[in-house]
Amino acid sequence: MVAVHSTARGPGLGGCRMWTYDDSRSAVRDVLRLSRAMTFKAAVAGLPLGGGKGVIMLRPDEAVLTPERRQAVLEDFGETVDALGGSYLTAEDVGTSERDMEVIARRTKHVTGLATGSGDPSPWTALGCEVGLRVTCERVFGTDDLNGRSVAVIGLGSVGGRLAEMLAEGGARLVVADVDQSKRELADRLGAEWTDPLSAMTAEVDVVAPCALGGVLNDETVPALRCRAIAGAANNQLADDAHDAELASRGILWAPDFVCNAGGIINICVELEPDGYAPERADARVRAVGDTLRQIFDTAAQSRATPLQAAYEIGRERLDVAAV
Ligand code: NAD
Repeated sequence: MVAVHSTARGPGLGGCRMWTYDDSRSAVRDVLRLSRAMTFKAAVAGLPLGGGKGVIMLRPDEAVLTPERRQAVLEDFGETVDALGGSYLTAEDVGTSERDMEVIARRTKHVTGLATGSGDPSPWTALGCEVGLRVTCERVFGTDDLNGRSVAVIGLGSVGGRLAEMLAEGGARLVVADVDQSKRELADRLGAEWTDPLSAMTAEVDVVAPCALGGVLNDETVPALRCRAIAGAANNQLADDAHDAELASRGILWAPDFVCNAGGIINICVELEPDGYAPERADARVRAVGDTLRQIFDTAAQSRATPLQAAYEIGRERLDVAAV
């Protein structure tokens, strides 16, 4: 499935997610919500891109594909991308890798994040998240110093794993969780406390960093949170936009996910610039996530809005200008 939510500011760019869904309706819902988030992510980051997303739905009875099936599925996805003639550009997301992008590229040129271009976006997403998490700490605790700060990281995948390493390097005390028990090894290496995902989400820590899947801030978890701030990589963290107001009323500062996790797409966008990809330019642009977040927190404070409302406002203004 490919959903193209907007091309007002440029081609809809968004990763290809390979995941198991209970039914195709859940997968359609996911791809639609994710593509909308990509529109706002690109607009708020000031990128000349629209919003799109791909989903390859795995059946519960075939959650792990044989190498031959995986290749065939990726090639089919490549043909779907190609049929859209460049209005959608794909990249890595949950469940897909740089190598998978190479397979997709056999069927379409509308692929980013290849080793020959900007490469895997995940480390850049992690960098943007670290910058975003520090700015969030600056607002809540008056300093962006991570030394001694306690952070719960949920999901130790490509982004969460790297983020956890960076936070540990910065001196943070970590509580971590993943449904994949093999990630315990990383937890041990970082001296992090290992727990289950719900306990990590509701742990008594300074910051929670959701880095697995969406919908984790919901009716069950929001009232149980014991953190002061939330800043992480997972897309669509709020089960419903209304949870944003609930977080604000509980005095918990939430860094909007599509702002905090824009590092990957910002890095990809450097590949599309006339001078081609250069990591130095990517580094400076990804670090600007911090300035964007400061602007959002300032606007929210001045207009008595929530950070989500302030971020949407900036995104809508830019989309309106592009649509004229
Ligand atoms: P990944 O597949 O590499 O890692 C996800 C990790 O989460 C895995 O280790 C998995 O076992 C774990 N996980 C899955 N369900 C879980 C649960 N219920 N509780 C705890 N852990 C669980 O994916 P990723 O690329 O690291 O992406 C993580 C999140 O960040 C996703 O929501 C993705 O859409 C978002 N994101 C990723 C990028 C990127 O550059 N990769 C960019 C922007 C946003």
